[in-house]
Amino acid sequence: MISFLKGKRLFKEFVIALTFLSLFVISCSTVPITGRSQLILISEFQELQLGLQAYNQVLEKEEPSKNKRYVEYVNDVGNRIALQTEKNYQWEFNVFQGDVINAWCLPGGKIAFYDGILNIMDNEAQVATVMAHEIAHATARHGGERVSIGILAQVGAVAVQIAMRDKDPAIQYAVFQAYLPTVLVGVILPFSRKHENEADRMGLTYMARAGYNPEEALIFWEAMYEATKSKKRPPVWLSTHPTTLQRIENIKALLPEALEIYNDSDKAPNRKIR
Ligand SMILES: [Zn+2]
Repeated sequence: MISFLKGKRLFKEFVIALTFLSLFVISCSTVPITGRSQLILISEFQELQLGLQAYNQVLEKEEPSKNKRYVEYVNDVGNRIALQTEKNYQWEFNVFQGDVINAWCLPGGKIAFYDGILNIMDNEAQVATVMAHEIAHATARHGGERVSIGILAQVGAVAVQIAMRDKDPAIQYAVFQAYLPTVLVGVILPFSRKHENEADRMGLTYMARAGYNPEEALIFWEAMYEATKSKKRPPVWLSTHPTTLQRIENIKALLPEALEIYNDSDKAPNRKIR
């Protein structure tokens, strides 16, 4: 939160913010597969450095899984799908202990699954569903894009203060109080949901190219729905993720295209997990 300052100091802050912004490589890049244009204010190198820093912190905290089969399948599936991407990252695939039904990816292709999410999967194609989704977050540079929107929101906050500097402090306060939630609800959260949908779409393509049947994605997300439906979730407009039912509907619509890719692919093994 930025405190209320006198006009002069604000102007100085604004100049600093602009200078700061000009230090960034303002690049318009294109997301693979979907072709969406994106504005990214940091270089890919900076993005990878941020990812690596966060990754090293996580490695200190989390315990590796004791389930050898999980570790083997996650690595095999990960390596197979990574070959289908356009990026030459230093991919790493981990399984951590814990019941949490989760997996994540940091910029640069550092991917982690928890035992909990593998516990609800039947086979490698379902591992591939989540793996391909996480890999898509990395290749689409969603991390870099998210950092960029955070920077823009801060620059915007300073600009709002500049514009308001001659106004009554009570009005300044009211406008600023309105700014933050508006940006959060109107810009940042829908942005995260857009990333989720994009990762689902790209993920289906990646898994199909790698020879995993994309119909398993539906079976996985239905299992995910069953496993998590009793959990309390924030209302849709306040959530960073689409609901699981929305995901299932999106995936159904994308399935015909993914199946065509799968039919032309070299089929991957699809070992049972249990
Ligand atoms: Zn995601």
